[in-house]
Amino acid sequence: MRIPFNKPFIPWFSFRYLIRGALSGTIAGNGRYTKKCHAFFEKRFGFAKVLMTTSCSDALEMTALLCRIEPGDEVIMPSFTFMSTANAFLLRGAKVVFADTLPDIPNIDPDEIEKLITPKTKAIVVVHYSGLACDMDRIMDIAGRYGIFVVEDAAHAIDSYHRGKPLGSIGHFGTFSFHETKNIISGEGGLLIVNDKAHEKRAEIIWEKGTNRAAFYRGEIDKYGWVDLGSSYLPADAVAAFLYTQLVNFDRIQSARKKVWWNYYELLKPLEDQGLIKLPVVPSFASVNGNIFFVTVKTGDTRDQLIAFLKSRGISAVFHYLPLHTSPYFTGKHDGRELPNTNRFSETILRLPFYNALKKSGIRYIASQIHAFFQGK
Ligand SMILES: *Cc1c(COP(=O)(O)O)cnc(C)c1O
Repeated sequence: MRIPFNKPFIPWFSFRYLIRGALSGTIAGNGRYTKKCHAFFEKRFGFAKVLMTTSCSDALEMTALLCRIEPGDEVIMPSFTFMSTANAFLLRGAKVVFADTLPDIPNIDPDEIEKLITPKTKAIVVVHYSGLACDMDRIMDIAGRYGIFVVEDAAHAIDSYHRGKPLGSIGHFGTFSFHETKNIISGEGGLLIVNDKAHEKRAEIIWEKGTNRAAFYRGEIDKYGWVDLGSSYLPADAVAAFLYTQLVNFDRIQSARKKVWWNYYELLKPLEDQGLIKLPVVPSFASVNGNIFFVTVKTGDTRDQLIAFLKSRGISAVFHYLPLHTSPYFTGKHDGRELPNTNRFSETILRLPFYNALKKSGIRYIASQIHAFFQGK
């Protein structure tokens, strides 16, 4: 059996809305399908204000502009994340301060955040790894006490919740990704959530190259001009049209993905019971959204041997993230603190194949091969 790591869900009718959009003659940004996507997210998750973006990386860049990050401002975030989380703030001259993760969940440790706060701290960025909610009660409490922004990098976390509240709707800003490896996809694409009313207008201006064009099109002003910093963060309506097919199938996609997640959990549980691997820990306030499935093993060597073993059996499993604080780009920029949990997760996490069409028989095969690996050891 050959099992790829990812198989993007692209039904043939994905092209229906694309063609419809093209025939209507408008395929630039903020068109008909962008508005339909916005309406979906606002209705489905109760987000106050959403803006589709060209990527989650760009949505994160918008949050750095919205927080008015200036050179020297400090931003606390996990080191165990994708580089876009850090790039967005470094591009504005911020000093990125990396915090360690919790020992049992690869999410940022609130105690570490609080230790790192200084008078220069302007924002905390949290990443809900694999869609598992960070401890938002504690993080919002810390941010409130020090008067700093919270940005949720919710790239993994669409349709996941913290005490029933959708992730992305809790901090000042939230960002999602529709890259082809995420739950719902448009190739490249993202979404910015603005939860604080005071920032809605400015978000729209930044989105439209620093102009008040969106307000102009709504007829709120009679001419538009350049009023702030900004960039071209809005995607072509063709991208939104592609995404819209995913949204029309949202429940179907999510139910398939959650099934894959729980099938893995159930079939790998015996290996955890034998002390051979660790399964994801789901805090009582968190939910499962079928984003990725990962296990942790005891050592980096075991992880690398297991990847090679699975590869020889036709199964494509992968690792991530290389810690940002030890990356080539960040060498000399980190303050030298050890981040032991980050390093351990980076060495021992294994991500298993994950896609909507992955059947239980496939997952059974993968689980049996992981079992065979440990029996051979
Ligand atoms: C995928 C990802 C991003 C970037 O998303 P893009 O849409 O590819 O820019 C940012 N942060 C995290 C945690 C991610 O996994």
